[in-house]
Amino acid sequence: MFNQVFIEKSCLSNLRAQNILNKLNKKDPIIIDDHESFFNKVKKPYLQKRDNLNLFIAEKKGRLVKEAPDAYGLDNGKHYYFIHAYNCIYECHYCYLQGYFHSPDIVLFVNYEDIGMNIKELCHNKNETYWFHAGEFSDSLALSHITDEIPYLYELFGPLKNAKLELRTKSANIKAILKQSPLENIITSFSLSPQSHLKQTEEKTPSLSTRLKAIKKLSDHGHPIGIHLDPIIFTENFKQEYEILAKELLEHLDSKLLQYISIGVVRFSKESFYQVKKNYPQSFFLAENMNTSFDGKIRYPRPMRMWILSQVKQILIQAGFPVEKVYLCMED
Ligand code: SF4
Repeated sequence: MFNQVFIEKSCLSNLRAQNILNKLNKKDPIIIDDHESFFNKVKKPYLQKRDNLNLFIAEKKGRLVKEAPDAYGLDNGKHYYFIHAYNCIYECHYCYLQGYFHSPDIVLFVNYEDIGMNIKELCHNKNETYWFHAGEFSDSLALSHITDEIPYLYELFGPLKNAKLELRTKSANIKAILKQSPLENIITSFSLSPQSHLKQTEEKTPSLSTRLKAIKKLSDHGHPIGIHLDPIIFTENFKQEYEILAKELLEHLDSKLLQYISIGVVRFSKESFYQVKKNYPQSFFLAENMNTSFDGKIRYPRPMRMWILSQVKQILIQAGFPVEKVYLCMED
């Protein structure tokens, strides 16, 4: 999976780091002082992730938990994200990370205990609900069989009754979660699109049916589920495609365990839009007019995206999903 593995000197005695090296069967990693002196220092084209991907095992310094932007999650508490990794093994054509970092190399942070301490400190007000999202700069579960942080997160969030954790993924890598007893405040959330969209815009991600099977398995075991229909991309027949998707979803999910469905249209920062056009000039989602919107991101014009979102919301409600569980992601 990785050409070179680099490890920070300070992580050599870290059990989680050792475990990663063992699982990857890398006995001779390159020892470095600090990943920041290497990762992101030299421009490495995004598409090199296909055949030249390096891994850095590191400690996250500075701010480990950050406040999430407005309209990031359900409107019932404070939202934060924490940084457990940079970059991802999948290759989604619309991924904003291609314009965010100068390199597709992966960094795995192993100092989860520091992240946990930050999270506990933030949850000081017992009357407030605090949401923590993993997966802002990576997929939360794609590498969890190597990184092994899931048991720690269950241990951390079990007693934190006023906190909720969202593990957001496009993977079907749920083995580690299935080993845990379900907790009301740990939600595994899946990003889904119609299979025809997935086929054209994502590489190496599991198919829609594989993700739906993972949802069913977790749901059968009583784990809370979140769904992100995001990014929604306009096509002539998107309504029919989302009707089919909504129906399939209902067949795979115990609706009592569904916590929310977020819906959001495809969007880019200026830098990622530039990179997307460069890396995937034939992408069908570039065919529609997009412009800079309220938060500086590039999207479909407002009337068009509001129409798309209302259509998808309507489809979900008509399929039987409760209206109060559907929210619009990252909209004004
Ligand atoms: S799964 Fe998420 S982080 Fe990974 S490539 Fe796709 S959009 Fe990017």
